Amino acid sequence: EPEPDVRTGLVVRSTGSWYDVHLDSDGDSSPDSGRSIRARIRGKFRLEALEIDETNPLAVGDRVRLLLDDDDVGFITGIEPRENQLSRRAAGRKAAVKEHVIVTNVDRAWCVQSTFGPKVNPGFVDRFLVAAEASHIPAGLVLNKADLLNDEPRAQEAMAFWQELYEGLGYPVLLTSAETGQGVEDFGARLAGRVSVVSGPSGVGKSSLLNAVDPTLHLVTSEVSEKTQKGRHTTTFATLYRVAGGWVADTPGIREFGIWDMSPQDLGGYFVEFRPFIPDCRFPDCTHAHEPGCAVQEAVDEDAITPERYGSYLALLETVQTEYEAAERMS
Ligand code: GDP
Ligand code: ZN
Repeated sequence: EPEPDVRTGLVVRSTGSWYDVHLDSDGDSSPDSGRSIRARIRGKFRLEALEIDETNPLAVGDRVRLLLDDDDVGFITGIEPRENQLSRRAAGRKAAVKEHVIVTNVDRAWCVQSTFGPKVNPGFVDRFLVAAEASHIPAGLVLNKADLLNDEPRAQEAMAFWQELYEGLGYPVLLTSAETGQGVEDFGARLAGRVSVVSGPSGVGKSSLLNAVDPTLHLVTSEVSEKTQKGRHTTTFATLYRVAGGWVADTPGIREFGIWDMSPQDLGGYFVEFRPFIPDCRFPDCTHAHEPGCAVQEAVDEDAITPERYGSYLALLETVQTEYEAAERMS
């Protein structure tokens, strides 16, 4: 009997029972060098150590080992430890599993916003950044439709403000236009050879931008989809698309991002600029909202934390508290 062909690869699509795995070619793991095959899980292989959904133990982004049979069907025999994962709450109160893993091993999560139609929503951005911090995923911001800033000095100022604020916090900020091509090459270079999440409200130009980055993609943009489809994001399972020599997860909106299992006391630590102050709060369980002796509130008074970010924090704190109390009642 010949030796079975042991290979490694990346899960790029999941149906819950079958997986599309992009094979690493020998000695070269760049995404353009391999090919995708169908694979399923072999035998009793389970991700017990990770304590995740047993009915769907793999997610896109997972790096796996597999055997190939003569018909090019793969049998997955192992998984590499995950760097990180994005998950969302499982539907239904009585769901046997708490969360669904959407995508794993994300190199960077990009929050896409636009200058106009719709304009930058800092609440959305900060919620996104908090979810990324909580999931240990490096994040960045894309400000699209830069072409609409021409002859709009006030909007230009606003955009410069957001750019400076978020770059100051350590997040890369790209100003792009799918229309003129501004920043498109730079964005493409940041996607190459990596797994990225590209997320944002509908209408900001995510599809247009990805199509501009990689003209072979042909993603449906909203002009078309409004007429032909209702609700583009109804699928349960994410897919990784090949974009400009990298992989981009088509993930549903911000609701999918995990802040649902966060305790109110933890939220502050996901605002990166709050971190140095938190140890100086008088109470160890300080929520930085109204407590006396709060070093975060002092930092806001001394302009070391912007009122915009602190405002986002207070709004998110309410959401997190509400969800946390609801979860406590259920358990
Ligand atoms: P998505 O919902 O985020 O995927 O957004 P789409 O890619 O479907 O784009 C929404 C609308 O914005 C469409 O009418 C696009 O033509 C338009 N659009 C996308 N990018 C740009 C851009 O950079 N500049 C301008 N002016 N319009 C854009
Ligand atoms: Zn505090």
